[in-house]
Amino acid sequence: MKNFKKEKTLIIIKPDGIQRSLIGEIIKRYERSGLKLIALKMLVPDKNLTQKHYLIDPQWKQKTGQNTINAYRSHNETPPFSDPTKMGNFILDKLVKYFTCSPVIVMAWQGMHAVEIVRKITGGTEPKSSDMGTIRGDFTIDSYAIADTDKRAVRNLVHASGSPEEAEAEIKLWFKPSEILNYRLLNEEILYDVNLDGILE
Ligand code: GDP
Ligand code: MG
Repeated sequence: MKNFKKEKTLIIIKPDGIQRSLIGEIIKRYERSGLKLIALKMLVPDKNLTQKHYLIDPQWKQKTGQNTINAYRSHNETPPFSDPTKMGNFILDKLVKYFTCSPVIVMAWQGMHAVEIVRKITGGTEPKSSDMGTIRGDFTIDSYAIADTDKRAVRNLVHASGSPEEAEAEIKLWFKPSEILNYRLLNEEILYDVNLDGILE
C-alpha cells in the first residue's frame, strides 16, 4: 500500500492572496491541520513557468476549456470560442496575466492524505460557490460569470494540486530537490505513531 503519511502536495498563494495580506491567514489554515511544510519560496513567476504549471496535465486545456464553455452557457453568455482547446488557450492567457502580475508564494506540504486534505481546506474552484469554512469560501467573492465578463482569470487566492501525480510533477517544476527539506516534526508522533508510550512521566 502507498505510504499516505508521506504524500506531498503543492500550494501556491496566488497574487490576490499576497495583495490582500492573507499570507499568514492562508498558511495558518494548512499548518494547523497537522500537515508538515517541507518547502517554501516567494517569487514572481514568468509566462513560461505559469504555462508549464498548467500544462503538466496534458488534458488540462481540453478539460478546462470545456468546463469554461459550459460555465459561459450556464450564465447565458456565448463563449468566445466553441472549441475546448481554443477556449483552454484563452483561459491560460488570462492565468498567465494573473500569475505574472505580483509575487506568489509556493509551498510543498507533506503528510497523511495531503492532496485531499489540502483540497478540502482550500475549497471549490469558484469562490461564489466554495463552502464557508474553506479559504476560497471565507476570504473571497469572485465568480466565473464576472471573471468571464471582465475577461480575466477567476481570483481564487490559491492553487492546490489535484492529485498525488499532479503534485509530484508540480513540485518538480517549482522546486529543486535540494529545496525540499526532510525533517521530523514532533507533532507527527501523536498524529501517526501506534505506540503512545513516551508521553506520561
Ligand atoms: P483548481 O484546481 O481548483 O484551481 O481548478 P482547475 O485546475 O480546474 O482550474 C485551474 C484554473 O482554471 C482555475 O483556478 C480557474 O482560474 C480556471 N478555470 C477552471 N475552470 C474554469 C471555468 O469553468 N471558468 C473559468 N472562467 N475559469 C476556469
Ligand atoms: Mg487544478
